[in-house]
Amino acid sequence: MERITEGELFQNVIQTIRAAAKIIDCDKNVLARLSQPRRSVTVSVPVRMDTGDVKVFTGYRVQYSSTLGPYKGGIRYHQDVDVSEVAGLAALMTFKCSVLQLPLGGAKGGVKVDPSKLSRAELQSLTRRFTTEIAPFIGPQQDIPAPDMGTDAQTMAWLMDTYSNQKGYAVPAVVTGKPIEIGGSLGRVTATGYGAIYIAEKALEAKGMSIKGATVAIQGFGNVGQHAAALAHEHGARVVAVSDVSGGIHNGDGLNVVDLLEYMTTHKTLKGYTKGKSITNEELLALDVDVLAPCALNGVITKDNANNVKAKIIIEGANGPTTMEADAILNKKGCLVVPDILANGGGVIVSYFEWVQDISNYFWDEEQINKSMKKIITNAFDRTWKFSQEHKLDMRTSAMAVAIKHIEKAMTLRGLYPR
Ligand code: NAD
Repeated sequence: MERITEGELFQNVIQTIRAAAKIIDCDKNVLARLSQPRRSVTVSVPVRMDTGDVKVFTGYRVQYSSTLGPYKGGIRYHQDVDVSEVAGLAALMTFKCSVLQLPLGGAKGGVKVDPSKLSRAELQSLTRRFTTEIAPFIGPQQDIPAPDMGTDAQTMAWLMDTYSNQKGYAVPAVVTGKPIEIGGSLGRVTATGYGAIYIAEKALEAKGMSIKGATVAIQGFGNVGQHAAALAHEHGARVVAVSDVSGGIHNGDGLNVVDLLEYMTTHKTLKGYTKGKSITNEELLALDVDVLAPCALNGVITKDNANNVKAKIIIEGANGPTTMEADAILNKKGCLVVPDILANGGGVIVSYFEWVQDISNYFWDEEQINKSMKKIITNAFDRTWKFSQEHKLDMRTSAMAVAIKHIEKAMTLRGLYPR
């Protein structure tokens, strides 16, 4: 286990788990079990490249906890993937599913590869061979992967097809985030962005404000950022700034969100959009707004810029956008930070619905999906908020404490096998 537990991300997650466990006086035996993944699989993935040569990649699937249900978590293709990072992300998935009270455990997978350097045929071969290597460990009742960085709906379609070929019949429920045509769910694409805004509404209410007229700045204008902007606008907020890797755009009176989204459809980047003042990503983070939603990268709010943040509320659409030191600074300033495991939970909730629909072979309409997702995510906010008020704690520690408490109950009820 040494290699698994030595990485920085893993260590940070364990530190957060321990701090939260102390608050709820978590059973020491439960904490010991929650401090390591249940299973970690490392596989070789040989791929015949377009040149005719074979290249061997390394892949991982870390299954952290299945106390609450089948393992659930994405598969990442990135050149920096290592087993410890995958394990840390698998732990976060465990607590995300738990704080949302989904009947799912936590897992994560990854292949150490730069997907931008592979052709489509090479990527397909890589995905099919990786799926084959982890096939004994995944399945609709065992472990259900999903997309993550460097993978998408097409990757999930190849995974589903490979697994189905091995079984001899279609098994759509083995993976989520698939295209609609092969068992994907309506509402999955918008889920994370919409969920973040449902949470923003609750956080604003908690601070005695309303989404109507609230000013919002969004960093990252991809899947999460664009849908968050669309719903915030629809619900009457004033989206004053957005940014992507090319930089940001600001208009204190509110940007024209419909026009911006149309621009993105054609240009795929904010570069060249002129209906507002150009700002940098750093300037966006420092805007005096009601809600700041970092929806791009991890580690963007740090001890070096946290003091510049003027937002009243931060909604973590991205995973890990605030470092631990920055979190402490923001809490001290009275900024309400809603952590990633809660704020971006819309995606995994609709993934859960996709799995349920695949298993029952009956598909819901989008209205039902959004309504049910809203109910789950806002209930999770209410539980966490109540805990934070009762214990006078920040929302990050509270979300983790609520999540651990839920798993602790389930673990204690199930007991330890064999004794
Ligand atoms: P995406 O690739 O669709 O969009 C990412 C956006 O971030 C793009 O607009 C990109 O230009 C921008 N970006 C990249 N580098 C940047 C930089 N240096 N500065 C500013 N902006 C930069 O990705 P996504 O699916 O929207 O995911 C965004 C974040 O949300 C990630 O952290 C992801 O892990 C997290 N997340 C996504 C989902 C989901 O369902 N898509 C679910 C949970 C969490």
